[in-house]
Amino acid sequence: MFDYFSYQNNQLCAEQVSLADIAQRFGTPCYVYSHAALTDGYRQFEAAFVGHEHLICYAVKANPNLAILHLLARLGAGFDIVSGGELQRVLAAGGGAGKVVFSGVGKTVAEMRMALDAGILCFNVESEAELVRLNEVAGQMGKIAPVSLRVNPDVDAKTHPYISTGLKQNKFGVAYTEALTLYCRAGDLQHLRVTGMDCHIGSQLTETSPFIAAAEKVLTLVDALANEGIRFEHLDLGGGLGIRYSDETPPSIADYVAALLGALQGRSEKIIVEPGRVLVGNAGVLLTRVEYLKHGEEKNFAIVDAAMNDLMRPALYDAYHHIQPVQSKQDTPSPQSSPASGRGGERERQSLIYEVVGPVCETGDFLGHARELAIEQGDLLAVMSAGAYGMSMSSNYNTRPRAAEVMVSGTVAQLIRERETVQQLFVGEKTFLL
Ligand SMILES: *Cc1c(COP(=O)(O)O)cnc(C)c1O
Repeated sequence: MFDYFSYQNNQLCAEQVSLADIAQRFGTPCYVYSHAALTDGYRQFEAAFVGHEHLICYAVKANPNLAILHLLARLGAGFDIVSGGELQRVLAAGGGAGKVVFSGVGKTVAEMRMALDAGILCFNVESEAELVRLNEVAGQMGKIAPVSLRVNPDVDAKTHPYISTGLKQNKFGVAYTEALTLYCRAGDLQHLRVTGMDCHIGSQLTETSPFIAAAEKVLTLVDALANEGIRFEHLDLGGGLGIRYSDETPPSIADYVAALLGALQGRSEKIIVEPGRVLVGNAGVLLTRVEYLKHGEEKNFAIVDAAMNDLMRPALYDAYHHIQPVQSKQDTPSPQSSPASGRGGERERQSLIYEVVGPVCETGDFLGHARELAIEQGDLLAVMSAGAYGMSMSSNYNTRPRAAEVMVSGTVAQLIRERETVQQLFVGEKTFLL
């Protein structure tokens, strides 16, 4: 499950670097990513698609760090963006605009201009009003905008309601029943060129069946449009493949791609996918230190230095993240192997059930409920599977500077984002003067 994070001599390591060393060098809280995990995930997609024209567009919002974008760009990835800011990140990281698809329900005029200027591969348009606006903006610029419509196939992704996007009641995409009319409309707009069809039904999907159901509905529509003389260069089947956080059993990348290709049997259109979480989720951990242990009347609390502002998923979705001690409790270090450590050697630490919580002033500020841990004040913990929607959803709530980010490859650990300073948080703020 966490192949690139394993215990070596009872010390949890990222590849070959101990997390304890990383904490000492870079401080906590700190996100740590495995270069090999990122590379392998991407290569699994490439391998699974061999023989079918394809483009793997990494969903930038899952983790937009420039080092991660740069790595994926060098491996050949395209990018799925949802804002002008993400486009600028992709370009700054050396990603090619010609491999960028632009999703999202609220694209502004300025964002459309920026994307048209850059020359992106495709706009995934999510409403009729957006189609009209894009046509106008492209016309003013003397350009032709390549478009897909994001079709809402009305299938149940069987995932958390907040990350389910392909149901009729969701804000995303155009209704399946209106798609045909809208494609005909798009075909009539002078400054648009219809190039594809797009769908994305949700995130953290752990079965292939909803993907297949969505793909089949997309194909039915593609065939209906062929009768109207509208043909597609690509089919974008979105992202959403889930990962294992605890006991989920999502399909492998290979099985997922095989299932998609199976549903598309015999079609020649280029296939685009937009994976986010599955590429980065289990490639990262959040490293945190126990500040205090507090034994309340009903519960024991492990108060750590990471909080909901660093990793929002538990507070937002009641999401589960595995939490592991960096030094495993089986450890009985000999005096030679750990000369500086005066603890953990002689006596077996007591294991207790803890609420793992942060310092933020919210009851919702927890990283894990009821975790059995044998820990002491000052110990390090790793919050696993934190590479996706961790740093990217972080905030400065409680005026907490954002965590540092570190990338590991083999025995090398490098800072890829400095810890924010409080001074940086003040920038732009002004005293009100009458
Ligand atoms: C968020 C998102 C993705 C990525 O979803 P994952 O579950 O992280 O794979 C892909 N496409 C679109 C349009 C998205 O909004």
